[in-house]
Amino acid sequence: MDVNTIISSLNDAQRLAVSAQPKPVLVLAGAGSGKTRVLVHRIAWNIQVNGASPHNILAVTFTNKAATEMRSRVEDLLKISARTMWIGTFHGLAHRLLRRHAKQAKLPDAFQVIDSDDQLRVIKRLYAGMNIDDSKWPPKQVQWYINAQKDEGIRAKHMVETGDVFQQQMIAIYKAYEEVCERSGLVDFAELLLRAHEMLRDNEDVLEFYRERFRHVHVDEFQDTNTIQYAWLRLLTEGQDNLFVVGDDDQSIYGWRGAKIENIYSFQKHYPNHQLIRLEQNYRSTGNILKAANHVITNNDGRLGKELWTESGLGELISVYSAFNEQDEAYFVVEKIRQWVSDGGLRRDIAILYRSNAQSRQFEEKLMVTGTPYRVYGGLRFFERMEIKNALAYLRLISNRHDDASFERVVNTPTRGIGNKTIENIRLLARAQGASLWRAAELLIAQGTLSARATHALKGFMQLLARLEEAADGQELFEKVKVVVEQSGLIELYKKEKGDKGEVRVENLEELVNAARLFDFDVENDENLNELDMFLAHAALEAGDAQADEYEDCVQLMTLHSAKGLEFKLVFLVGLEEGLFPSQQSTEEAGRLEEERRLCYVGITRAMQQLYLTHAESRRLYGKESYPRQSRFVREIPAEYVQDVRIRANVSRPVTAKPRSGLAASSGTFKLGERVKHAKFGEGVVLQIEGAGAQERVQVNFNDVGLKFLMLSYAKLERL
Ligand code: ATP
Ligand code: MG
Repeated sequence: MDVNTIISSLNDAQRLAVSAQPKPVLVLAGAGSGKTRVLVHRIAWNIQVNGASPHNILAVTFTNKAATEMRSRVEDLLKISARTMWIGTFHGLAHRLLRRHAKQAKLPDAFQVIDSDDQLRVIKRLYAGMNIDDSKWPPKQVQWYINAQKDEGIRAKHMVETGDVFQQQMIAIYKAYEEVCERSGLVDFAELLLRAHEMLRDNEDVLEFYRERFRHVHVDEFQDTNTIQYAWLRLLTEGQDNLFVVGDDDQSIYGWRGAKIENIYSFQKHYPNHQLIRLEQNYRSTGNILKAANHVITNNDGRLGKELWTESGLGELISVYSAFNEQDEAYFVVEKIRQWVSDGGLRRDIAILYRSNAQSRQFEEKLMVTGTPYRVYGGLRFFERMEIKNALAYLRLISNRHDDASFERVVNTPTRGIGNKTIENIRLLARAQGASLWRAAELLIAQGTLSARATHALKGFMQLLARLEEAADGQELFEKVKVVVEQSGLIELYKKEKGDKGEVRVENLEELVNAARLFDFDVENDENLNELDMFLAHAALEAGDAQADEYEDCVQLMTLHSAKGLEFKLVFLVGLEEGLFPSQQSTEEAGRLEEERRLCYVGITRAMQQLYLTHAESRRLYGKESYPRQSRFVREIPAEYVQDVRIRANVSRPVTAKPRSGLAASSGTFKLGERVKHAKFGEGVVLQIEGAGAQERVQVNFNDVGLKFLMLSYAKLERL
């Protein structure tokens, strides 16, 4: 037995954790201190030393990608196949449980997982039947409310009315929503967790089976578990000594989605015989980066408190770039990327991290223009694209005709003469009968109340599905997908679409067939599971990483939230502006600002060698122009760790570097930093712009005569 390979590459504290006696273990440590590494080595240890088989291992990670990596790292360490380990996200694992035990979970075998877009659509559809005004009860708010209840393990029937009108209405919608989902066999993300928990709780034999099976339970990023996830873990490990969790209170960034940082405290209470292990050495970042991160996070109160240190040198200073606007910011970043690559660096070692998805576009444009390969995580994901969702809707209907969301989506796509009026009639009847849309359509045809044209079209749709089902029957998964893509009429529809768009959609549909071909069906080949249903659930759950070749060398673009757990040699943290990061909302709500700061801490600590912090003095986002101040987070980093950088040597900055209110970064005619010419003063560069309209004036630093303020309406300034 070669235990040495498992522990030789660890420090003392890490070894302590990996080789801990069987008892609940909590590894509490800062970013880059090797928590994930310890978790992987612990799994290997449990197999190698504690006599577990891969079959006995349960590990919860944050993404499917992390799960795949974890499995292959254990395989590397032990040189065995680890395919039967259950490693995945809470949602993925819950889904797997529900598929295996649909009956005990009181779900139809062909239940479908819906993503949050589909969930919203289901809620919106309820409104018509309930006469609810969506301006008064925004569907998004209702969706949030329902999910928040589910995350706490609360069903509509558990809720006690307090007489509050808001609450009353929410309960009514929640109830109606539950009924529709029940009837159509739909399971949203929050439902996966809640249902899996209830299933285990209410079926002692099933629970016993999994307790017996999962002799070792491991959890990464424990600080971001919510109430129901933690309850789930407790059910599986109650009274046993097999729970191993790692986390960092300073990296809790999902409070807004129900995560409970308090679970860290609860763990210590619920598992009184636990062992607490701290790791303090950071192996990821240079000294400057680490110190900056340590400083920023000390501005939060109520931390469990820890200080990281590193043996690596200080490294380069953190660079701060103040861009004139968002274009300039993107230009700067892409220029630095170009330099990195021309110095022999790899693109995959670079990440551009931003607070909100909408920020990616600027960077994408510049990257595209310069022909730099890149990959966006979590933008419009592959499986969320319209054409893909349409194809999936056909597949879902093949599996379950009573899936109302899919029925509505494709009943008239491609158009086949089923008008809104017919669809409304179907809806009305469905509502009156408490039946699915499909069933209501059948009834309407039988009653003969529809126009001949509508009847014909509706029958055509139903026959099409019967044909698709027949053609797909007994075929391999990818053949099934191919049948749908080719015979549903979708390909012809998009081929007719003008321009590149249609072409891209056709390509995407072809890619869907490919994705089905590559789909790695359940590792244990459980015969009870239907491959098509697994694939459809995968489409809803998966982050859609299929958009670029995994191994292509490309720059990584993602939100700070999706960067959790990852590391890159060169990191650009962009849009560091008040109102954007920290977000406007967070500055107005107690507690939220601290979560934003933790997010910033996560961002800084992704960087291994070089870190750039950028902000724009003027930004156009969501169609609005603003002149934000630099983020407080940048100002929280002591000056000794940072340097200001300029990209254009010929631009001297205004003396007052921080824009005061009333100052603009661009006027209608001129931009800060732009070179101009004046008939009398000669050439210079624009440093400040003030006022508007006839009062607008600019400050220019002229090469020969120095600083001058000029009224734009008088001075004849020429752009160079
Ligand atoms: P995060 O909080 O960001 O998730 P983490 O605590 O999980 O970070 P890891 O990702 O496990 O940290 O480790 C950070 C980096 O340090 C990785 O590249 C890892 O391989 C390396 N590392 C960790 N421990 C050691 C060690 N003892 N010797 C060498 N490298 C190490
Ligand atoms: Mg980690």
